[in-house]
Amino acid sequence: MKKIQMVDLKGQYEGIKDEVNNSLQGVLETTAFINGPEVQNFQKELEEYLGVKNVIPCGNGTDALQIAMMGLGLKPGDEVITADFTFAATVEVIALLQLTPVLVDVDPDTFNIDPEAIKKAITPKTKAIVPVHLFGQPANMDMIMDIAKEHDLYVIEDNAQAIGADYHSKNGKIQKAGTIGDIAATSFFPSKNLGCYGDGGAIFTNNDELAHTIRGIVNHGMYERYHHDVVGVNSRLDSFQAAVLRAKLPKLDAYNEARKAAAQKYNEAFKNEAQVQTPVRVGDSSTHVYHQYTLKIKNGKRDALAKHLQEKALPFGIYYPIPLHLQKAYKNSRYNEADFPVTNKLVQEVLSLPMHTELDDEQIDYISKTIIDFLNK
Ligand SMILES: *Cc1c(COP(=O)(O)O)cnc(C)c1O
Repeated sequence: MKKIQMVDLKGQYEGIKDEVNNSLQGVLETTAFINGPEVQNFQKELEEYLGVKNVIPCGNGTDALQIAMMGLGLKPGDEVITADFTFAATVEVIALLQLTPVLVDVDPDTFNIDPEAIKKAITPKTKAIVPVHLFGQPANMDMIMDIAKEHDLYVIEDNAQAIGADYHSKNGKIQKAGTIGDIAATSFFPSKNLGCYGDGGAIFTNNDELAHTIRGIVNHGMYERYHHDVVGVNSRLDSFQAAVLRAKLPKLDAYNEARKAAAQKYNEAFKNEAQVQTPVRVGDSSTHVYHQYTLKIKNGKRDALAKHLQEKALPFGIYYPIPLHLQKAYKNSRYNEADFPVTNKLVQEVLSLPMHTELDDEQIDYISKTIIDFLNK
């Protein structure tokens, strides 16, 4: 059996070596290292793939979130509602901009932000909602867009984990995750579903005016050379990363299919195992691109299982071990423990298994058998 890894970037590279090497060689030949044609071409190709009017590449996913919030003109004191159960980058940029993060609980099955909890958290100061399409499954965008419309709020999708997922709206429309709200941010961190070979990120929006504002913000607030109209940042996708992404974008659907097939195989393996809850899908309302394949381990056995996997040198992840509202940096007296029953429980139950485009059946059988044997011993 091949050595099991949480993410197998080397194995994936072997399959696209020629394309990637040629693309990188091309950048070396042109020496257009910043804002070269590779970046512009990637931007156009991603706009086409997503069916969105504007993609603005930038330095990483965290910058993308921050720049999206700057572009919307959010001001210190504005309240921004997001999920308590996500990667810290989401709440970090809210705090950095001196906006007020308002963390709310999530759905126990999908792990995504709970629309009912959003409704309860809205105050006259609320300006935006940041749903995170966690682990690759889109949040309930129908309800979130309705709430936003009713209360005149912006919706900023954190799409770092769900690039390529489809969302089926109740009106029959099918849209890519990250193209439904006012604006979205994504990350091309190497382990993401569309990863480059360093740092990278992008912002998506169908709003041309907002896109124009943001193209200036990412470039020191310049709309005309050496005229600085707004306070901006320096956040760029470099040409080497764009070249890697151009080689990988045509494979994204196949990569996501490989993840789905691996997830299907895990589901099958655990289907008679009552102590394990496999990822719950919300009917056919969206696709899940399995950035992570995350189990809930019942009966308080998660930590014992984690220890066992560690002893067997089987990789796994605990995403995320601590609710954001309990993190030192984000504690706030406005929060009440009784408002986070789901997240407080999830952090003790979740365990993510190896998930990548190169997993084979033998590896999945071995991983699932190791877990089932341990839980039934
Ligand atoms: C990865 C990730 C980010 C941040 O992306 P970087 O490129 O690492 O800055 C933000 N939000 C979520 C949900 C992520 O998974």
